Amino acid sequence: MIGPLISGSRRLSLGKRGWLRSHKWWLLRRFSQITLLGLFMLGPWAGIWIVRGNFAASDIARLVVLADPYIVVQGIFGGAIHAWPVLSGAAVITLAYLVLGGRAYCGWVCPVNIVTDTAFWLREKTGLTRDRKLDRRSRLVILAGTLFASALTGAVAWEFVNPVSLLQRALISGIGFGWSIILAVFLLDLFVSRRAWCSHLCPVGAFYGLIGRGALVRVSATRRSACTDCGACFNICPEPHVIVPALKGQGSPLILSGDCQNCGGCIDACPVDVFQISTRRPWLQTGAAE
Ligand code: SF4
Ligand code: SF4
Repeated sequence: MIGPLISGSRRLSLGKRGWLRSHKWWLLRRFSQITLLGLFMLGPWAGIWIVRGNFAASDIARLVVLADPYIVVQGIFGGAIHAWPVLSGAAVITLAYLVLGGRAYCGWVCPVNIVTDTAFWLREKTGLTRDRKLDRRSRLVILAGTLFASALTGAVAWEFVNPVSLLQRALISGIGFGWSIILAVFLLDLFVSRRAWCSHLCPVGAFYGLIGRGALVRVSATRRSACTDCGACFNICPEPHVIVPALKGQGSPLILSGDCQNCGGCIDACPVDVFQISTRRPWLQTGAAE
């Protein structure tokens, strides 16, 4: 099972707009996440090396080097002097997320998101409601902790426990420590707290959330006057606090928080088409409108 077939949050949209329109963005995200993971796995599994490396650092056809800026920053804190291809690879990724939304990484790239979405789907299916309150600022504390640990140890500290890297290693080796971490994340999201990992604890999401504050691509509550207060968007959203100012405020209908993953879940779930993908255009808008 890799995600929802019919989840509770989409029930109203499903009845009104049909399966495809209520799952469009979910389908696109899964396609993106599985394709990217598949590209990394083609080499180790089938000997087809289009992409070498992992989500931390990779090269495409030995031509383009890409690097996760969070890894690069940890390296710098650890005292590493990065080579130019690594720095430019990190700059390319940073620029991409400055356009697409930093946490588009979480919704569209990270394979662990498939695991946490599945836990969320199971919670809805089974009616599990236990939701131990976690402070979403915890991830910023963990982020600062990883930088401190990198400075202290001279290593890229988060990589020792990073579920994203461990998942990839586990898929290559078949067994290992990685599966335990992935299982722990899954059980945490299922039994302890709603969206515990991605929305409260993961420092990778916190890092990309900081980048995403200035991003151009945004979800907009363009038709907010049509809202019926059904709550479906808040139910499905991994970061529901981001919706309130755009949907209920008097200012811009754009969702401007860096925490928004641009996942399109609210677009899928809303039965009256309040949301759409849009862009912020500061060079065309002024003051409160933006
Ligand atoms: S506001 Fe919409 S696009 Fe943003 S994280 Fe929530 S569901 Fe996803
Ligand atoms: S925007 Fe309003 S109508 Fe649409 S899902 Fe959210 S609460 Fe329901």
